[in-house]
Amino acid sequence: MGTGELQNWAMARGLVLGVAPVRTFEEGRAALEWRARQGFSTPFAAGRPEERYRPELLYPEARSLVVVARPHPAPILEPGPGQGVIACYALGPDYHEELGRDLGDLAKLLKQSGARLAVTQVDSGPLLEREAARLAGLGYYGASCNLIIPGLGTAFSLGLVITDLELEPGEPLATATCRNCGRCLAACPTGALLAPGRLNPELCLSYLTQKRGFIPPELRPALGGRIWGCDVCQEVCPENNRWAGAIPFRPRAGLLQKEQVQVTPYRQDLAAPPLTYPDLATILALDKVSFNRIFKGTALAWRGKTVLQRNAAIALGNMGDLAALATLRQALGAPVAILRAHAAWALGRLGPAGRPALAAALATEDDPQVRREIQVALDFKNPGKG
Ligand code: SF4
Ligand code: SF4
Repeated sequence: MGTGELQNWAMARGLVLGVAPVRTFEEGRAALEWRARQGFSTPFAAGRPEERYRPELLYPEARSLVVVARPHPAPILEPGPGQGVIACYALGPDYHEELGRDLGDLAKLLKQSGARLAVTQVDSGPLLEREAARLAGLGYYGASCNLIIPGLGTAFSLGLVITDLELEPGEPLATATCRNCGRCLAACPTGALLAPGRLNPELCLSYLTQKRGFIPPELRPALGGRIWGCDVCQEVCPENNRWAGAIPFRPRAGLLQKEQVQVTPYRQDLAAPPLTYPDLATILALDKVSFNRIFKGTALAWRGKTVLQRNAAIALGNMGDLAALATLRQALGAPVAILRAHAAWALGRLGPAGRPALAAALATEDDPQVRREIQVALDFKNPGKG
């Protein structure tokens, strides 16, 4: 089976496929070295740095990298009152599972064609998937660091199969390049895009919503209502004209259970089911069983309940809606210190109404970091509210 046949197989499944040669990813190496020189970490990276840009290190017998892009919807969606915003890649079923199934089928196909090696990777191994996709000729880097596939934009997930089959590789695109319009850099809420193609991951809201532990207080306001991921640099990119169109979208059934989440209908004129963002107060009150029932099988479950609840507390604080008072007061008594701390921060944002609960919590709180957060919250003066 050749590259063309594989591409036809992929196209029939709504996927985009390309083949990269097994060689050092020079651009990926340069980007990682730049990050290391700046002292920035590379969050969630697997393996040693050199294993990220040298495919032959882990797989000396590998001859080809078959890269697959799976488009995901870029829906029009405005959050309703009290709803948390989720990046579009995470709204539906977990792409790791869906793309993983596609790659599993592809690996079987390669084996039927004589491959002895056919290892799949969807964020599950060290290789830089974007760089493999660029080398395969699927797309080019935008100033936002996202890979842009001509005609498709940035709304897709990537995975690959490492194989010992010799397949005809693609070439990096020679003429397609980023328009360098600067919109992504200007729109980034935290200035995480320091320069075209230069990202400080520790300032990136997408990373912050997924990291465990405390979110630096100075970055919490920039999260706004986001509880998972950030689409800003993609939304503003002119290559993503799909964002301006209506894409029928089918969210996971659990997200539509009315007793657990508010449902916001969108585009009544489309025959698509309603698309929804989850209700923040509901998220904060979830126990483990309900959390799993709603979020298991979505990308949001990856870091567990506490991370999502922490993000929900921040979002409620940013909204400053007094309707969240009772929910946040309850979260101030949560068994997990991180939740108590972020609930305290959020209550501080509600102004005088939040103070009695904060003062009461300070009288009984033992954790020094949570105590500090409560004290700062008690002193907080919201300039907008006097
Ligand atoms: S995902 Fe959001 S925070 Fe991260 S670089 Fe893009 S706009 Fe900035
Ligand atoms: S917003 Fe403009 S500068 Fe940024 S990636 Fe898109 S085209 Fe390039």
